[in-house]
Amino acid sequence: MSPDPLYDLIVLGGGPAGVSAAIYGARAGLSVILLEKMLIGGRLVSVERIENYPGFPEGISGPELGLLLDKQLRSFEVRIEASQAEQVSFKGELKKVFTPEGEFNGRAVVIATGTMPKLLQVEGEEDLRGRGISHCASCDAAFFRGKGVAVVGGSSAALEETLFIARFAAKVYLIHNRDTFRAPQALQERIFALPNVEIIWNSTVQKIEGEQKVTGVRLLQEDHERELAVDGIFVLTGRIPSTDFLRDELSLDESGYIITNELMETSQSRVYAAGDVRRTPLRQIITAAADGAIAATAAARSLNKAGAGES
Ligand SMILES: Cc1cc2nc3c(=O)[nH]c(=O)nc-3n(C[C@H](O)[C@H](O)[C@H](O)COP(=O)(O)OP(=O)(O)OC[C@H]3O[C@@H](n4cnc5c(N)ncnc54)[C@H](O)[C@@H]3O)c2cc1C
Repeated sequence: MSPDPLYDLIVLGGGPAGVSAAIYGARAGLSVILLEKMLIGGRLVSVERIENYPGFPEGISGPELGLLLDKQLRSFEVRIEASQAEQVSFKGELKKVFTPEGEFNGRAVVIATGTMPKLLQVEGEEDLRGRGISHCASCDAAFFRGKGVAVVGGSSAALEETLFIARFAAKVYLIHNRDTFRAPQALQERIFALPNVEIIWNSTVQKIEGEQKVTGVRLLQEDHERELAVDGIFVLTGRIPSTDFLRDELSLDESGYIITNELMETSQSRVYAAGDVRRTPLRQIITAAADGAIAATAAARSLNKAGAGES
């Protein structure tokens, strides 16, 4: 078997940041490979409706935009691999990415692996994954039409998602570990006004119950235990960056986000980060796509293939 080629640019992740980096890289004349462990489109494929991305005056559904990204990516000369980066070696000139399918070598890398939901790390969570545990209201709320669900979280995003879940579920227990929300008052009022939402303050989930699927949750409410019978649980306690596979290779901030400069350069030469995975003041599609473009252009310039992608 012939050895895998040396790519100019390896892109990790096929969300808006990775797709944009791959397109800009290919247009700058770089040989590009993109590794995506799930679906091209990234996190936006599970977003119900996107109304703030320019160019779509009526808005667009996440799955539709994901398909458009996929189509546009495939119109360029980019090798797309369904593969997960599990380990990397960035310290030399040769950048190595290790996956279950083998090793990929490049001269530059753009990391665009986004974020993933924070887990509760309680008993039952691992075993019942995909069997009544969700991290996305717009993806899964409709499966709980007429049923009882628990929602864990208290941020503005969690309350927004609870409003959506309450349109489907007959009963929603909103479990929060404090005695107040920090979300805007208007949003809180909308939650308080819903007859099918019961807020359970000062409580943490101890266990998710069920054999084949979720049947309940066990809570610690102040100093006593409480059982709730539910058919599902939405864990909306935030997100963490997908950077565990980078281990000691790059400088990360205290939350694990990659630290970059304005050219998306990381602490290793010719290794760039783009989109939600980096420390940034705004995590949106437009900023992710812009980061990808800047990162690939910086990589092309560094590899002396300046400019070709910019027109
Ligand atoms: C419910 C919800 C609603 C949202 N609504 C909007 C909105 O209306 N407007 C807006 O602009 N933004 C919205 N966003 C935010 C937007 O989806 C993100 O900012 C954007 O998707 C970030 O793009 P990204 O490419 O950085 O990361 P992601 O989209 O997260 O893509 C990262 C990709 O990398 C892949 N990956 C991860 N690890 C690896 C690995 N080790 N190897 C290979 N591949 C890997 C993942 O599978 C994923 O496909 C919303 C997000 C959510 C959750």
